Amino acid sequence: MGKMKIKPGVVTGSQLQEVFEYCKSVPCAMPAVNVVGSNSINAAMQSAKEAGAPIIIQFSNGGGLFNAGKFLDNTDQKAAVAGSVAGAHHIRLLAEYYGVPVILHTDHCAKKIIKWVDGMLDAGEEFYKANGEPLFSSHMLDLSEESLEENLETSATYLERMAKIDMTLEIELGVTGGEEDGVDNSDVDSSRLYTQPEEVLAAYDKLHSIGSFTVAAAFGNTHGVYKPGNVKLRPIILKNSQDRIQADRGTGEKPLDLVFHGGSGSTEAEIKEGVSYGVVKMNIDTDTQWAFTHPIKEYMDANDGYLHSQIGNPEGADQPNKKKIDPRAWLHAGEKGIVARLVEAFDDLGSKDQFEF
Ligand SMILES: [Zn+2]
Repeated sequence: MGKMKIKPGVVTGSQLQEVFEYCKSVPCAMPAVNVVGSNSINAAMQSAKEAGAPIIIQFSNGGGLFNAGKFLDNTDQKAAVAGSVAGAHHIRLLAEYYGVPVILHTDHCAKKIIKWVDGMLDAGEEFYKANGEPLFSSHMLDLSEESLEENLETSATYLERMAKIDMTLEIELGVTGGEEDGVDNSDVDSSRLYTQPEEVLAAYDKLHSIGSFTVAAAFGNTHGVYKPGNVKLRPIILKNSQDRIQADRGTGEKPLDLVFHGGSGSTEAEIKEGVSYGVVKMNIDTDTQWAFTHPIKEYMDANDGYLHSQIGNPEGADQPNKKKIDPRAWLHAGEKGIVARLVEAFDDLGSKDQFEF
């Protein structure tokens, strides 16, 4: 099979669906990295360039707010909206300079912060009017704390709005374990960590005629990196869900585009199994947080003698430390750490060098 050709810039609409279809046929998936500012955004785009595949760049609610500045008041999610929209414009402008395709996404949005997605959709519709394409490729709604009926009803309402501007919706069925971005599911009943194929079928029936959507199905996956514990990863749930829809609704193979949350700390075999069942997107956050922070810690340790005063270091009491204390010196070390970790993720997911752009 030939590599998929794709233009640099933000990938939206039917082109995004073509990318997902291609990923399922390879099979391979793309990493979705949570970013918090220009350092992680630019590192993510550089990783796509080095890996030869599109990168999914996503803002969590907290990440969007952080991009605006933690100083700001976030009443009615206004600062989180502004920070996410500003990040989207940053990515749109610079993706062309990096020469890479980017899928621009936002992560978990629960009912209590839904004004965040509302605000981003307002900006998205305005952008669509002016440019004929949406600002973001997709948003996630995570209504897994609500009943299945409410989850699907609300998701359908949002998908109707999003389909009009060529956007894709990600939904969550079941619960991703662990803790991320201030949402703690560590104590959730373990049966909820495994989505039932019936729930996935109900979601398919409700949404597939409205527009494009992806499904984050729970199969024991967990946010964060922990020592192996009681929760067992059961990727076979993903296959059972695909097979159930194919059998009951007469679709082709792998009718759903699946999302793997909590990719950090997963083994290569677990990742490969998920990808073979139609996972097209794997979220990675904790591993790239570590990849950003650890080289900075190493820089600080290695340059300790230069970082306690502006003048005076092991080379002499009158020697200046300006070059060592410039934040660009250590921030770039962190950026390079993110790039290396993401290129590794592309490799694990099978998407490295599968695209041409
Ligand atoms: Zn997640």
